[in-house]
Amino acid sequence: MPSAYARYEGQTLVIGNAYLERRLAARAAAPCVTISFVNKETGRDYIRPGSREFSLSANGRAMTTRDFVFERAEVHEGDPTEAIVHLRLKPLLPLSVSPPPPLSIELHYQVYSAHPVLRKWLVVRRDLTGFENLSGLPTEMITLSDLDWEDLNLLVDTPASAEVWTDYFTRREKAAAVTMDDCALLVNDAEHGEGFILATEAPGPLKRLEAYAQPGRIAAGYNRDDETIFERILAPSLRSGQAPGEEFQTPASFILTFANPIPQDVVDGEYARFVAEQLTTCDVAQVPSITVNTWVPHLSELSRTLLLEQIEHAAELGVDAYQVDDGWYDRMGDWNTNLARFPNGLEEIADYARAHGMRFGLWMAVATVDEASQVFREHPEWIARDRQGEPNRHPIPGTVTMCLDSGFYDFILDKIDAVISCYGVELLKLDLSAVRNLYAPGRYAGCFAASHAHRSPRESHVRILARLFDLVRTLKNRHPRCLMDVSYELYGVMDGTDLALTQVADQNWFTNVTSPHEVNLRREIYQRGRVTRPWTLNYGGAVLNHPTAPHYGLFSALTGHGVFWGDLADLDAETQAHYRHWFEWVKEQRACSDFYRYYRVSNVFPVPDGVSSRDYRHAIPTARYGVRPLGIHPPAFEPLSEHRGEIWDGVARLDPRGEGPIFLFRPAACLSPFFQLRIPWVEPTASYRLTDVTEQRELGVFSGAELVEPGVEVSIAEPLHTKVILVRQERRNHL
Ligand SMILES: [Zn+2]
Repeated sequence: MPSAYARYEGQTLVIGNAYLERRLAARAAAPCVTISFVNKETGRDYIRPGSREFSLSANGRAMTTRDFVFERAEVHEGDPTEAIVHLRLKPLLPLSVSPPPPLSIELHYQVYSAHPVLRKWLVVRRDLTGFENLSGLPTEMITLSDLDWEDLNLLVDTPASAEVWTDYFTRREKAAAVTMDDCALLVNDAEHGEGFILATEAPGPLKRLEAYAQPGRIAAGYNRDDETIFERILAPSLRSGQAPGEEFQTPASFILTFANPIPQDVVDGEYARFVAEQLTTCDVAQVPSITVNTWVPHLSELSRTLLLEQIEHAAELGVDAYQVDDGWYDRMGDWNTNLARFPNGLEEIADYARAHGMRFGLWMAVATVDEASQVFREHPEWIARDRQGEPNRHPIPGTVTMCLDSGFYDFILDKIDAVISCYGVELLKLDLSAVRNLYAPGRYAGCFAASHAHRSPRESHVRILARLFDLVRTLKNRHPRCLMDVSYELYGVMDGTDLALTQVADQNWFTNVTSPHEVNLRREIYQRGRVTRPWTLNYGGAVLNHPTAPHYGLFSALTGHGVFWGDLADLDAETQAHYRHWFEWVKEQRACSDFYRYYRVSNVFPVPDGVSSRDYRHAIPTARYGVRPLGIHPPAFEPLSEHRGEIWDGVARLDPRGEGPIFLFRPAACLSPFFQLRIPWVEPTASYRLTDVTEQRELGVFSGAELVEPGVEVSIAEPLHTKVILVRQERRNHL
């Protein structure tokens, strides 16, 4: 029985479900604004007076819902249920000297029966109705900026009891205004144990969230204050007369309400379920169990002999996907096989991997091309340009970035399409920069080329990201078996991932943090793998021939999923056997109940005791990439400096029955060999068998209630080691 509804009650529009309800004033010719927002699990109304509903600037003129009047609303039944509210500009006075830009607005609200979630987005339209008698307006361009499609005065109770969880739900603050990094903020009322998550589906460096940076105000919208500032231009209709002009649909944002004294359980519970079911394109069942990528240590130095040898070793270990990174082609932009390195073509390597039971993966750049490439020589008009008219350059010498909002789009779509078909690619890592370059923050404030489809440099950001998403969607439609990975570099945010990307790309190569920085890697997975789903994240994981990898790095990667680097010819027989055993174990566990799907920390596991990158423009870790800092942005921290970690961390990858593996880590500088492991995710009335898989030892049978409190004591004798505990319900038989 669906619980979602949208209906009129008198002059009020009501949208809700079993968990929440939002009411809007919907009186003809009056402003339309949210008048209540009730968490139905507690009955508390979070709305406060003075909400703006949305806010934007049109040709520099600030506007909110109070500049518009309610016209009508359509309510659509179904699940999700949607309500569309149509707003018109307030009627003009006859002698209006400075009429506002001619716009109309649609407010879209969407509510789901099975989720405590209400989504919202806007459509902004050039609309000349009512402007018939005014001269000059119809040909005017309208520039939208400072756009927040959610802008409410929303507070659970008092500012004193409100806390805002930021930095991927790991840092507690009183207020936050975040550009580029967080796609979700959790507002908790510590006194009442209830609150809401405000999340945005705006993409990459364009997103911005705000909670109480101004008293009472929460907002979801576009970047308005930092480097990739949003702008969108609405052109008049090309036809004369009253035909409407251009329109623009914003991304969605959503508010998820909760009543739970442990906010981390909401993140791993209701929020994770909504993101997995509604916003994640990648099917976890399609994700290989163990992927090896060639980038470290081979970098671009690939050859036929090397790859044939590595593939044989990978097959012996039980690897099921082999991805060839940079170094296989002649020139970026041309994308032919490098025949000096692969005289029999790359097809031979791809076939060899498949013959050894592995899916074949490949790396490509999207917008970056070599200056020696044919496309660069023949199409200089497609180059993305900076303020001075110079080409946008990636730090790789001899390369330039082409603009996806030009004719280059069709060219590169065909190239990538042909490469996928030619080699039977099933994992495609798309990389390097599009316009914003992370290694030169502040350097490229959009594409300044005048002949492209974007009509201003600032507008190029939103349009180029939209073209990138179009490209990935089109490729996915043509090649449904191929997992599409958009790297953080291409996405334009340092170690960035978010709810926009995960709806389009299957995966996201989101960091290169790897051995011996496992505690930093685990911290990044703990953060990004909880705002999006952990199986969508790729990384170097661990370097399999690094000394810490067998007992620490391997399992650190498995807090996400099995992606690895390393020279596989550099493993002795004992280490090979060790990996073979554990890779087989991963496959067995996934076949039983796929632990890649689940990630739970509750109040049991703290944030891993390392550091993670945030895209602070003033703190870009340029040294990490051997790049000189440019402009006003000195490097402020180094995520690859040594962080040994002093406290235990871990993750429970348990399914809804409380079954699966728990990974526990004793970091390098941790003095305590003991950890009291509470397991609150089990059914209290069931009984569970616990196995120490690392030491192949039965720990006994416990009641669920015992596991919840006090739990069991776990020990790891040596620092830099891992413990894997397997939890199974006692009455079931497992292989
Ligand atoms: Zn351009």
